[in-house]
Amino acid sequence: MKPLNQLLRANIAALKPYSSARDEFTGEASVFLDANENPFRKPYNRYPDPHQRVLKARIAELKLVKPENLFLGNGSDEPIDLLIRAFCAPDKDEILTIEPTYGMYQVAADIHQVQVRKVPLTENFELDADSLLAAVRPNTKLIFICSPNNPTGNSFAASDIEKVINRFEGIVVLDEAYIDYAGQPGFLSRLSEFPNLVILQTFSKAWGMAGIRLGMAFASPEIIRVLSHIKYPYNLNMLTQQKALELLEDRETVAQWIATTLAERNKMAEQLSKFPFIQKIFPSDANFILLRTLNADTLYQHLVAQQIIVRNRNSVALCQGCVRITIGTPEENQLLVKALYAYDAQ
Ligand SMILES: *Cc1c(COP(=O)(O)O)cnc(C)c1O
Repeated sequence: MKPLNQLLRANIAALKPYSSARDEFTGEASVFLDANENPFRKPYNRYPDPHQRVLKARIAELKLVKPENLFLGNGSDEPIDLLIRAFCAPDKDEILTIEPTYGMYQVAADIHQVQVRKVPLTENFELDADSLLAAVRPNTKLIFICSPNNPTGNSFAASDIEKVINRFEGIVVLDEAYIDYAGQPGFLSRLSEFPNLVILQTFSKAWGMAGIRLGMAFASPEIIRVLSHIKYPYNLNMLTQQKALELLEDRETVAQWIATTLAERNKMAEQLSKFPFIQKIFPSDANFILLRTLNADTLYQHLVAQQIIVRNRNSVALCQGCVRITIGTPEENQLLVKALYAYDAQ
C-alpha cells in the first residue's frame, strides 16, 4: 500500500475538522449552555453524540473488532460517498469496479466528478482478479468489490479477493452487505492483515433496519479517522442510535430470520427451476435470486399487474433477460410462484 497521505486528496490530508460543542466538553455536568439548544423539549432538544460512543462500543463487541476500526454512517451509502470524497480528486483520480455490480459506486463517483472504470465479471459472474489488476492506472485510488455481489448473488473466491487486496497499492473497498446470508465468513476477522482494506456492512438487510439508516465501515484506525473527520458531525441522529441499541439486543430473532430466508431461497430456486420460461437460476449467497428468462420485460409487467414488484435487470451489462427477486415471507414467495403459474399459462 502507498502511504495514506499520498493516497488521500491533499486538502483532506490537511483538513482541520469541525469541533462541536460536545467535542470540547465531554464530561458530566448538569447545566448545558454551550450548544445553543432549546432547553425545553427534552430529550430531543439535545444534539446526539457525534462519536456514537455507546452504539459503537456495542457494535464493536458484536463484530469482534475495536471501536477504532469502526465507522458508523447513515447507511453504507454514506461511507461509499465519503471514501470517494476522501481519496479521489474530481477530474483527476478514478475508481475501478466490476460489472455488473451495485449502482451506488457509480452514482457517488458521478456526483464527485470522478471517473469510473469497470471490468466485467466472467461469464459465470466470477471475479477476474488479473484483469482487474491489469486495469489499474496510476490515478486509480479505490477498487470497489461487492461480495456476495448485487445483482448476481454469488460470492467471489476469497483467494481472488485477497489477490486484489495484496497487489493493489491503493484502497480496496469490499462491500459485504449480504455477508450474513453467505455460506462463507467474509474478511472482517482478517481485517488487521490488510492495511488497505475497507469492509462495508449494513443493518439494512439481514438485521431488518433499512428504515433507520445504519451502515458500517471497518478499516485501520488511520482510515477510520479520516472518515470521521469528513462526515457531518451529527450524521447519526438520536433516534437511530437509540433504536439500533434496542434492536441489537435480539440476535436470536435475526438468526431465525436468516435461517428462514435461506430455507426459502433454496425452496424458491427449486420451484422456479420448473418453469419452462426460466432459463437459468444463478446460485445465490444472498437474500435474493437472479434468474434469466426469455423475456424479462413482459415477465416484469405481468408481475406488476399482479401487484408484485421485482427488479428488472434486463438492461444491466451481462444481465440480459434477468430479473432479481428478493426472498420475502413464505406467503409472499408463494404469491410470486402463483403469479408465475398464471404467466406460464398465458
Ligand atoms: C443494500 C445494499 C447496501 C446497503 O446500503 P445501505 O445504505 O446500508 O442501506 C450496500 N451495498 C450493497 C451492494 C447493497 O445491495
